[in-house]
Amino acid sequence: MTPDQLRDAVVALGQKPFVAKQLAQWLYEKRETDPGKMSNLPAALREKLAAQPLLTSRVIEADDSGEGTTKLAIRLHDGPIIECVLMREENEDGSARLTACISTQAGCAMGCTFCASGMLGLKRNLTAGEILEQFYHIDALLKKDGLSWLTNVVVMGMGEPLHNFDNLMQALTILNADWGFKFGARRITVSTVGLPDKIRELAKQGMQFNLAISLHATSDKQRTKLIPTNVATGLANIIEAAADYFSETKREVTFEYTLVGGENDSAADARRLAELLRGFPRANVNLIPMNPVEGSGLIAPTTQAVEEFTRILKQAGVNVHVRKKRGRAVQAACGQLRLRLEQQF
Ligand code: SAH
Repeated sequence: MTPDQLRDAVVALGQKPFVAKQLAQWLYEKRETDPGKMSNLPAALREKLAAQPLLTSRVIEADDSGEGTTKLAIRLHDGPIIECVLMREENEDGSARLTACISTQAGCAMGCTFCASGMLGLKRNLTAGEILEQFYHIDALLKKDGLSWLTNVVVMGMGEPLHNFDNLMQALTILNADWGFKFGARRITVSTVGLPDKIRELAKQGMQFNLAISLHATSDKQRTKLIPTNVATGLANIIEAAADYFSETKREVTFEYTLVGGENDSAADARRLAELLRGFPRANVNLIPMNPVEGSGLIAPTTQAVEEFTRILKQAGVNVHVRKKRGRAVQAACGQLRLRLEQQF
């Protein structure tokens, strides 16, 4: 809830409007979900709040990779399962880098052929509350480990964030606001399949989010084969929208490129990618070797192909990173754990 919504809610529960501010501090700044511990709230309100659980979703499985990654399967109140992931890493200076990867939809409508999230289609959008509830489940993991709060948030879990725009914006506004979680917008990355109109709308929000665009191909023919919705958007249009995002916000844009064996991982692809991004102001490329998903019929790239692709981009002056394979043991490919659980229950 925004401050206005919280105020209406506490007034409806018979409280003075100012109590909303105290409640926001407990919920957002302290991430407290037990009304019994909200010591400065009137007892009557605490009692009313305790009548039903504050969280509507619950963790049904937590899988550890043993290398710092934990993936949570979370069941929503009406049945669908979503995933979110905590990645624990160390920066070069020894400080902790704690990243949460969160979902915005149950399932996904985009139908990318290599991705497990879309395999059962879109079930429904998450509400802003359900998007934010993931942070409480992650916080419980952090507290259990004696770790402090997250340093980064990536909206790269299940679903297409910009396809659930209003709820995403409400959740990120609460995450970022001074009256909310106080989480810096520059430490939040929104990853999109590339919906040009929505990218431009995001740019106009006056927020400093990082943008990641899932490009994955260097021609429309090739991209449409991997991402069916590309038919309606087109590669050139997406790159143009990304450039508009940069000029409006001055935030760097990252292009994600999932390398699929024999589909988009050749040396010629790498050269075309470098050409496509030539002149793009401060472009970064994040190469993601595909995590094979059963039933997709697609395979991971060879190590040599990844190395050659990287070398060609570097040589062309592109700022390139290869995503580390983390948590394969925990079925870390987007939507893989949930796919197994949905099929099991
Ligand atoms: N819908 C958004 C965010 C969710 S997907 C988007 O498309 O960006 C987040 C990233 O994971 C995307 O770049 C997607 O292409 C990638 N991804 C999905 N399934 C994958 C798989 N099996 N192996 C490697 N990367 C995958």
